[in-house]
Amino acid sequence: MRAEPFFGPDFTLLQRQDPEMAQILLDELERASGGLQLIASENFTSPAVMAALGSTLTNKYAEGYPGRRYYGGCEVVDRAERLAIDRARRLFAAEHANVQPHSGASANLAAYAALLQPGDTMLAMALPHGGHLTHGSKVNFSGRWFDVVSYGVRRDTEQIDYDEVRDLALRNQPKVIVCGATAYPRLIDFSAFRGIADEVGAWLLADVAHTIGLMAGGAIPSAVPYADVVTFTTHKALRGPRGGGILCTAELAARVDRAVFPFVQGGPLMHAIAAKAVAFAEAAAPEFAGYTQRVVANAKALCDSLAAEGMRPVSGGTDSHLALIDLRAIEVTGAEAEKRCAAAGITLNRNAIPYDPEPASITSGLRVGTPCVTTQGMGPEQLKEVGTLVAQAIRYPENAAEVQERVSGMVAIHKPYLSEY
Ligand code: PLP
Repeated sequence: MRAEPFFGPDFTLLQRQDPEMAQILLDELERASGGLQLIASENFTSPAVMAALGSTLTNKYAEGYPGRRYYGGCEVVDRAERLAIDRARRLFAAEHANVQPHSGASANLAAYAALLQPGDTMLAMALPHGGHLTHGSKVNFSGRWFDVVSYGVRRDTEQIDYDEVRDLALRNQPKVIVCGATAYPRLIDFSAFRGIADEVGAWLLADVAHTIGLMAGGAIPSAVPYADVVTFTTHKALRGPRGGGILCTAELAARVDRAVFPFVQGGPLMHAIAAKAVAFAEAAAPEFAGYTQRVVANAKALCDSLAAEGMRPVSGGTDSHLALIDLRAIEVTGAEAEKRCAAAGITLNRNAIPYDPEPASITSGLRVGTPCVTTQGMGPEQLKEVGTLVAQAIRYPENAAEVQERVSGMVAIHKPYLSEY
């Protein structure tokens, strides 16, 4: 599944017409291909996905749904959206799919709109413990419009405490329970969440923005059999275009569709929907299963390597594509570590760890992920080396140039598809 470089239908035209913007695109190409990309939520999408994204479907207005549009001339784009819906339903064994959400945040907004009224109570994971902004943060619509009760992870295991979730659910009687996270390295027990939701008569919403790709490839168990509604993004481990989607039961199909359009969004991005369909087909191919298994094996190798360098993995390890690293033992903050890695050509992000004593802008941790480097063809041996390079970059900032040279050597062999054009 190694992809070839692709820049759109006619990059030379852009270079002639708008050299200033063409140069920005080239600079980003150089940045992304010249270093190690360890941001857990990113990936290198395929040229076929890029071709669909750069297509004339971007020109078409198509408010509504296939066969029920508010514009003429939608008979062709209807076929694109039907294909995307059918492929998503088949890939995830879901009763219903809505492929119109522009992003993961939009998918969550629509899912809440389908299930909740302003002021209703929902139970979700706290942002400082790995939850997402849209799970009830006060700076987000979700925290302002709903009465949010948050659960976290235990201090000792740094994993979700299902007894705490159950106690909170029994005490607060939420209408929706949200499971899923943005910085949680372990598997989530969807069956346990289902049991708790049933006990209190709540809807179960699984936000698997991060892990949907791993579920598509079968590397981790799917949330679909357990949740009433599943929200996801298409641009992370799934390797599709930037975008979102919602899967749900047949019972909730009409409510979810009405919540996406007309409640939350206007016209769908038909080029993005076509690109999502391409990505769903790619994820259904047998090679994709191997890719997702390698993503997880690589995350474990990276985690072990960092642990051997004295950088403690939160919860003791990972079952997924990402690891959360506690830097306190080496007395470097997340912000400083992020900066030192950047100076050595390694892109990753600082991240709060559970019960973090530092503010969110500084943090005591790092989040690292392996979807990008796995797409580049790296395996556990290389990830062991990546761990060493991350540790060197953080511990010995004076040697940044030397680390960068080794990084350049690695990406020269394991090129992202963007490395040439
Ligand atoms: N939900 C979770 C769990 C996420 O991790 C993210 C993004 O990282 C989102 C929602 C939001 O996705 P987007 O950035 O596409 O809005």
